[in-house]
Amino acid sequence: MHVPLVDLHKQHAAIRAELKQAVERVIESQAFILGPEVAAFEAEIAQHLEVAHAIGVGCGSDALLLALIAAGVGQGDEVITSPFSFIATPEAIVRAGGVPVFADIEEDNFNMDPAQALDRITPRTRAMLPVHLFGRCARMEALMEAGTSGPIAVIEDAAQAMDAARFGNRAGALGHFACFSFFPSKNLGAWGDGGMVVTNNAAAAARIKRLRAHGSEKHYLSEELGLNSRLDALQAAVLRVKLRQLHEWSNARRDVAARYRALFAAHDLAEFVRCPPDDSEGVHVYNQFTLRADRRDALAAFLSAAGIGSAVYYPLPLHLQPCFSALGYKIGDFPIAEKASREVLSLPMHPFLEADEQLYVVETIRSFYCGAP
Ligand SMILES: *Cc1c(COP(=O)(O)O)cnc(C)c1O
Repeated sequence: MHVPLVDLHKQHAAIRAELKQAVERVIESQAFILGPEVAAFEAEIAQHLEVAHAIGVGCGSDALLLALIAAGVGQGDEVITSPFSFIATPEAIVRAGGVPVFADIEEDNFNMDPAQALDRITPRTRAMLPVHLFGRCARMEALMEAGTSGPIAVIEDAAQAMDAARFGNRAGALGHFACFSFFPSKNLGAWGDGGMVVTNNAAAAARIKRLRAHGSEKHYLSEELGLNSRLDALQAAVLRVKLRQLHEWSNARRDVAARYRALFAAHDLAEFVRCPPDDSEGVHVYNQFTLRADRRDALAAFLSAAGIGSAVYYPLPLHLQPCFSALGYKIGDFPIAEKASREVLSLPMHPFLEADEQLYVVETIRSFYCGAP
């Protein structure tokens, strides 16, 4: 049996006809940059998340950069973020002129620990950038409290968390700004790059709309410099079709996660691997199903030999990346993130994963730790 980490073919097969129709509509319109298709998708996302403004941009990384700029982050401003994320998160801070200040994560959910984040606030702190890693919302409440009492914006990196929720509110509606990615393997994935910034702040939304098109509101009149980072109409058309399926797919991911937990319990593997706990305070949408595993690298190789895809997100915490050596962090600064980077292994996870595939994955893991049955 071959069980890939992600299977986009099955997703595509389920909605092939609708997608072809949507793309055909754009081709016939010959309107490829922004336009009605993008505007309609922006309105649908705003409604889905219950936020006032959604601005489609070129990718999730640009969404982060634009949100940071709109939040007022500039030269030398400090932005507190997680050391356990994709490089795009702190990269955007540096591109905006800011300085990433890392705060360690929580042991059981891989997200930035709010108490550690608050400890790192200084007079130079301009924003906090929590990441809803693997599709589970970060604990935001204390960050938002700190945000309302000072000039600190809270920006959600929700790239992996479309459709997740915390205490009844969707990721994207929790902070002052939120950023999404439509990279193909994200829970709402395009046929290429795409991203979105959402906010309830009308002035900031208007500024982001200008900044995504060179800073101009009127053609050939530039108040400030921006970039060229627009969601294109073909991607918006694809995403509108997929958005209609999103709720069903999120539920299917949650079912897959529950089935993994039951299988791991039935196979008596608690001594060797720890499943990610479900979120009792919200809705985890499992962009990844990430174990903590003994002898992680050997397990990954064993799975690969058995035809099972797996991945390590992320093998090196951000504070130890060579590109940040000038920030002066060292091994031991964030022990929980460092331990996570040695233990994590993400298993096959997508809405179309079958029970027999999951059984094969868990049986293979059992034979790695306990020998052939
Ligand atoms: C995917 C991702 C991004 C970047 O999104 P792109 O669309 O690939 O630019 C940023 N942050 C996190 C946590 C991500 O997973």
